[in-house]
Amino acid sequence: MTVVDTNSEGSKKSLNFIEQIVENDLKEGKNRGRIATRFPPEPNGYLHIGHAKAICLDFGIAQKYGGTCNLRFDDTNPTKEDVEYVDSIMEDIRWLGFSWDNLFYASDYFGKLFQFAQELIKKGLAYVDDQSAEVIAQQKGTPTSPGVNSPYRNRSAEENLDLFLRMQAGEFDEGSRVLRAKIDMAHSNMHFRDPLMYRILKQAHHRTGNTWNIYPLYDFAHGQCDYFEGITHSLCTLEFEIHRPLYDWFIDHLQEGDYRPRQIEFNRLNITYTIMSKRKLLQLVEGGFVKGWDDPRMPTLCGLRRRGYTPESIRNFIDRIGYTKFDGVIDQSLLEFAVREHLNKIAPRVSAVLNPVKLIITNYPEGKVEWNEAINNPEDESAGSRSIPFARELYVERDDFMEEAPKKFYRLTPGQEVRLKNAYIVQCTGCKKDADGQVQEIYCTYDPLTKEGGPESKRKVKATLHYVTVEHSLPAEVRLYDRLLTVENPAEDKERDFMDMLNPDSLKVLKDCRVEASLQDARPLDHFQFLRMGYFNLDPDSRPGQLIFNRTVGLRDTWSKIAKK
Ligand code: ATP
Ligand code: MG
Repeated sequence: MTVVDTNSEGSKKSLNFIEQIVENDLKEGKNRGRIATRFPPEPNGYLHIGHAKAICLDFGIAQKYGGTCNLRFDDTNPTKEDVEYVDSIMEDIRWLGFSWDNLFYASDYFGKLFQFAQELIKKGLAYVDDQSAEVIAQQKGTPTSPGVNSPYRNRSAEENLDLFLRMQAGEFDEGSRVLRAKIDMAHSNMHFRDPLMYRILKQAHHRTGNTWNIYPLYDFAHGQCDYFEGITHSLCTLEFEIHRPLYDWFIDHLQEGDYRPRQIEFNRLNITYTIMSKRKLLQLVEGGFVKGWDDPRMPTLCGLRRRGYTPESIRNFIDRIGYTKFDGVIDQSLLEFAVREHLNKIAPRVSAVLNPVKLIITNYPEGKVEWNEAINNPEDESAGSRSIPFARELYVERDDFMEEAPKKFYRLTPGQEVRLKNAYIVQCTGCKKDADGQVQEIYCTYDPLTKEGGPESKRKVKATLHYVTVEHSLPAEVRLYDRLLTVENPAEDKERDFMDMLNPDSLKVLKDCRVEASLQDARPLDHFQFLRMGYFNLDPDSRPGQLIFNRTVGLRDTWSKIAKK
């Protein structure tokens, strides 16, 4: 696990390696002191937390150095792309707290790329190959043995140009021809062995319709789009490092003045017990294993949002893990730590009983209701307080009672005293069970002198329990989530498909919960701390009279214990 906490309070944060490069470039006056970045998602899925890492870097560098950051949809493959994804990507970037200076699509540059390809053909640097993809792949060689030249490699520029224009005119079938750069079939970098630039695809594109019968491939599109847009620092993940020489090769043939974009690679984010590939996440959605891209178990930004994550917590998490040149896997608990830390500051405390059983205070007057002040958030004075009811009949957690308890059980068991939050100390006197031995009611007596602020309020008891009143509380459904996968690092397990690693118990639905009445005004995505139970938010599936909550994260904070070691 590669986890470095660079954000602990008091320590001054040093520059990451990309900021160092940017500062050096500025010092050297490169690109006349201009900083321009871009975030280039392919609109073939929803953004996930890995993308948040790229977004925070691309937008963050621009913000920090007074530059610009564009959003550019890398829409070069019409077979997988969709406007649904375009819209969701924009929504998620805004939600994270960033806004782009310009919005572009790689398809905006299809005309320019087409021109540039023709220039390369005229210079003898590109040719049309009539072979199939399989044959071309066979001729590619291996990292230790050179490839074989295509028999079409030495066509004249005129013939190549004619064929290329006819490819675009729609004269040839898909897969029958490609345009390749003519570089070196024996090059030590496999990406230089006459890489593909264009393929024939007779598919409607979500923006350009049926204008194009040929589409550029990533390597021929990405760097050139950077160049057309005036990007100075093209930040991407480490798997593109090996593509960088080719990126530079195309730029060499495009560059006119002194401006030049530069590709810099950083480590991809991987998190334990989950996957981070749009293709695989799509499989989960299409196979019905989750309820959609925004299922709260998904590592997508919309899933995390629905789960109760805040933009601040995600940005803090990204900031903590930092940017390096080595791939690693980040412990999921670090992400949970970040959201717990933020919700602790902002989430009002409320009472919710997830697994309720009745508790009757036998010496408390029937029909009496006391309204006690409860502090909304001890971490935030401005959150104020609210009145919560106390009465003879309450609900408490079933787990908080044991008829025959071990010595260290400090909660409800006959003879033992506990405090009920914001109210009295009560002593358990017994319970009533049904024919199956299931506890139906618990009985207690209360001591009126122990009310908060009363003469015996300071009396020591070992547990304080939460509760709601039977009369005022509301029914609610609560959804508890667990890890999506049963395997810590799915990438390490090459034998099994990730679909065989799905955790069958990743969702547990509690239908009969009771929550305090103040929650009837909760709005979708509002955050709460359910006392003793964790952080929850209101799911958008909720309807009036039918509250549904998601558990964002439990209260227990295992990460900080690890971090402090
Ligand atoms: P996926 O494999 O999940 O589909 P991708 O790399 O194909 O991801 P793109 O839409 O092409 O997704 O990515 C847009 C940008 O986000 C790229 O610059 C890419 O490097 C970056 N990115 C994608 N996944 C991660 C990740 N896990 N960690 C950091 N950056 C990422
Ligand atoms: Mg991609």
